[in-house]
Amino acid sequence: QVVNYAPFTLLPSAVPSALFEQAYAVQQDFNLLVDAISQNKEFLEHTLASTIKVDDFTAQLFRIHAQVLEEGLAQSVFLGINRSDYMFDCGVDGTPALKQIEINTIAASFGGLTSRTAAVHGQVLKVLGKSEEASRLLPNNPARGLALGIAKAWELYGSPSAVVMFLVEEVQRNIFDQRCIENELWNRNIRVIRKRFRDVFEKGSLDGARRLYMDSQEVAVVYYREGYVPKNYDQQNWEARLLLERSRAVKCPDIATQLAGTKKVQQELSRPGTLEMLLPGRREAVARIRATFAGLYSLDMGEEGDKIAAMAIADPERFVLKPQREGGGNNLYGEELKQVLEKIKDSPERTSYILMDKIKPQPTMNYLLRAHSPLRVSECISELGIFGVYVRQGKEMVMNEAAGHLLRTKATEHADGGVAAGVAVLDTPFLV
Ligand code: ADP
Ligand code: MG
Repeated sequence: QVVNYAPFTLLPSAVPSALFEQAYAVQQDFNLLVDAISQNKEFLEHTLASTIKVDDFTAQLFRIHAQVLEEGLAQSVFLGINRSDYMFDCGVDGTPALKQIEINTIAASFGGLTSRTAAVHGQVLKVLGKSEEASRLLPNNPARGLALGIAKAWELYGSPSAVVMFLVEEVQRNIFDQRCIENELWNRNIRVIRKRFRDVFEKGSLDGARRLYMDSQEVAVVYYREGYVPKNYDQQNWEARLLLERSRAVKCPDIATQLAGTKKVQQELSRPGTLEMLLPGRREAVARIRATFAGLYSLDMGEEGDKIAAMAIADPERFVLKPQREGGGNNLYGEELKQVLEKIKDSPERTSYILMDKIKPQPTMNYLLRAHSPLRVSECISELGIFGVYVRQGKEMVMNEAAGHLLRTKATEHADGGVAAGVAVLDTPFLV
């Protein structure tokens, strides 16, 4: 095994404080929204209808979702941990605006590691003789916030001998991030086990009340840090996923909440009237959410989709083409966007993508420190994420919080082609 330090910027990056506050202020609204979508069977079905015709992965998730509803939910406590990501778009007049990139509703990571980055950057600033600036870095502890959500769900599940199960990857590449959260749970005397889908397939079972057992140990909460991309699944892993979803255990997230985080859902949310339908009577929340939306466009078959495809082909620099995938490195930009759209513009395959306005932040200079990489100054852009945590018991929200933030920074040099996965590093906001 190889242990590497997580990559980070040498210096914290400037973030406009008004936008930072705006991102925190809208997080509870996003928690409510995701939770509302997850409970709206008709909306999910209608929204994902075109996608599941062409995207096998989403279709398989949807089949499990439908099957679990058909049988009737055994689960009565729901735990959501999400991260809403933003960039600061520079309008024509140069004023930055907060624009959402996406919301991650499954396996949203780096809440653990980023709980340590403010201390790293504070130290760097002190060494540079900037202790006043160091003292202005905000404390940030999403590991604790996420663990409090898990602990609440565990408590409401109501079986003190039951454990929390982290569902982890076959090859573990981000274990220390997860350990930060795990340790917070042990500190509260909650037992944690780490298992893969394969272990669940081999050793998982349900009793008559659909309580979940691993070997003979009851599981209260399943926290997925896996299961969000097609390559996480073979036939056995799909069976394991179905077993987990059918169980009474609190899944973080349940499969409906995972579907609520798809790019197709994000795009449909931007249609006039959709937010109002999902959050009735919450006009202010709707306005706060909508203010963060960039232009999003459907490529469904039909006249509307034809027009959008033609618009993107004519001006590819204005847009990003996004497939229904998570995990980074999948989006298409510029010339490549144009070529792909030209090829698929008349086929249903185009409905496996959405189109989005490209957000254009003001670049800044920083050093990106990563193992085995030369040290040099790069032109960079940053992406701010806010962690959301909520717990619902039956119909009642018992916790709804913003649990901390994450700043990731990447070099622009690869950008106008794809900002490939793995180029971003951990950062700390310095509010200005
Ligand atoms: P994933 O689920 O793969 O993380 P994202 O929507 O977060 O998908 O896109 C991956 C990366 O692509 C983002 O981190 C961001 O750097 C870039 N990106 C995504 N959408 C846009 C956009 N509309 N404008 C500019 N960059 C974007
Ligand atoms: Mg992302």
